[in-house]
Amino acid sequence: MAKIAVYPGSFDPITYGHLDIIQRACEIFDKLVVVVSDNPQKKSTFTLQERISLIKECLKDNSQVEVGSFSGLLVDHLKSKNVKVVIRGLRAVSDLEYEFQIASMNRSLYKEVETVFLMPGEDYTYLSSSMVKEVAALKGDLKKFVPPAVEKALRQKFR
Ligand code: ADP
Repeated sequence: MAKIAVYPGSFDPITYGHLDIIQRACEIFDKLVVVVSDNPQKKSTFTLQERISLIKECLKDNSQVEVGSFSGLLVDHLKSKNVKVVIRGLRAVSDLEYEFQIASMNRSLYKEVETVFLMPGEDYTYLSSSMVKEVAALKGDLKKFVPPAVEKALRQKFR
């Protein structure tokens, strides 16, 4: 049976850090579904459609990855798709408390779910979508942090 995992997140926008985690997950799982959270309570810079399009553009050559979205509880989405594995990235110890809380809550809502934490390459341990947006707003160089399509979208957003 194919091993499938879901990688949920805001991806506002996708960075090389997210892509590093996706690459690593693809080494372990047969199929990875990247799902963008559609949470009206969390204000995002890019719309849901923009975030999905950018991820699709960055992963167009990777046939192992599918891109989708979810709203509401992640565990309800997992149940509806019959997937039990969630991928999350851990950059530093500072991520752990938040990630531990989410993973524990998800497990208490859906006891079969397993969260697999992957560490990015060390070049990406400091990278986050919000840092990238700050650099973009201040017209800094983005090449090391995001693929060209995302860089272009950030330039337009922060013009
Ligand atoms: P969320 O709002 O769900 O935290 P993010 O898009 O910020 O959405 O992050 C999604 C997941 O990707 C989280 O597990 C986060 O820790 C991970 N992640 C984000 N940036 C990086 C990075 N540079 N390296 C590794 N993991 C990362």
